[in-house]
Amino acid sequence: MRSKKGALVLIDGAMGEGGGQILRTSLALSLCLGKPFRMVNLRARRKKPGFRHQHLVCVNAAAKIGGARIEGATLGSQELMFAPTTIRPGHYHFDIGTAGSTTLVLQSILPALLIANGPSTLILEGGTHNPFAPPFDFLQQVFLPIINRMGPKVEARLERPGYYPKGGGRLSVTIQPAKKLKAFCLHERGKILEQRAIATVAGLPRHIAQREIGVIGQKLGWGEECLYIKEEPADMGPGNIVTIEIKSEYISEVFTGFGERRVRAETVADKAAKAALRYLAAGVPVCDHLADQLLLPFALAGGGSYNTLKPTLHTMTNSEVLKLFMDIEISMDRISKDIWQITLSQAYQ
Ligand code: AMP
Repeated sequence: MRSKKGALVLIDGAMGEGGGQILRTSLALSLCLGKPFRMVNLRARRKKPGFRHQHLVCVNAAAKIGGARIEGATLGSQELMFAPTTIRPGHYHFDIGTAGSTTLVLQSILPALLIANGPSTLILEGGTHNPFAPPFDFLQQVFLPIINRMGPKVEARLERPGYYPKGGGRLSVTIQPAKKLKAFCLHERGKILEQRAIATVAGLPRHIAQREIGVIGQKLGWGEECLYIKEEPADMGPGNIVTIEIKSEYISEVFTGFGERRVRAETVADKAAKAALRYLAAGVPVCDHLADQLLLPFALAGGGSYNTLKPTLHTMTNSEVLKLFMDIEISMDRISKDIWQITLSQAYQ
């Protein structure tokens, strides 16, 4: 893998979707490539711009793992300078606070630990099923199996769920790194092997879950054998999620609806069902969220390609951030009405 070594990478946090992902991708790349960066306009396009607690945890976690010097990481600040030294694998415990997303912290630090010179174990405490973040089930069933195909061995365990908005969950991750990530192509999903939906309630009435799987059964045309209800102990709540899992020959995908106060259970389930239907109809292996998350490991592998739905703003933005750090070419070609092919390759000048 060739990378643009040397000078400070300058990043405008207002580019593209202008949110936290620009920060997390920059932290991850900075650690992996040993390149310092300076970011301005951090989270400029969010309602409350700048650092929020959750992002400070990401920076501090990355700084610990990369022995980094940091400037500007304070609540509300819109600027950051981050200069790592070397990746330090080992045992880490990061407590994000009750509701911050554990999986988003993992996005910032996992890539470096995948290519570190020794194994790591992480304990992350906070939210494990937050809206606008990868829920634990997605991490475990969708993202990590792909990472494991690239060489490393990563296992994640949910020790205690932390539902939105209460949080208070805990997950552990063990990482056996690989010297180099292996590139591969993911153009087909193959036959569907298993499909099911699980509506989970913690400290909330069972009828919420019943109504959710009712909607999903009806929208996806699934029978009772595919529909499950899970009731967690009340002290883990209040919390409600509905998860639609589609396991195919070459990939699994998970679609999640997050229960919220004043949002009807039917609406929560309907959103998740629509996302699953769109995926099933298009016949692609990789759905929206996974598409933005695969760019970074594929870039570290030096290439690869996957078929997905129309690239989101998150995907486009992530691709721009990658190109600021690395000599990598990323093409996004529409190959049929609903299918795009994203291809990464090393750029030679
Ligand atoms: P940001 O909005 O910039 O904080 O980035 C959110 C990140 O979480 C992106 O990588 C999204 O792909 C990911 N994400 C959000 N919602 C989900 C979901 N339901 N399943 C999987 N990943 C998600």
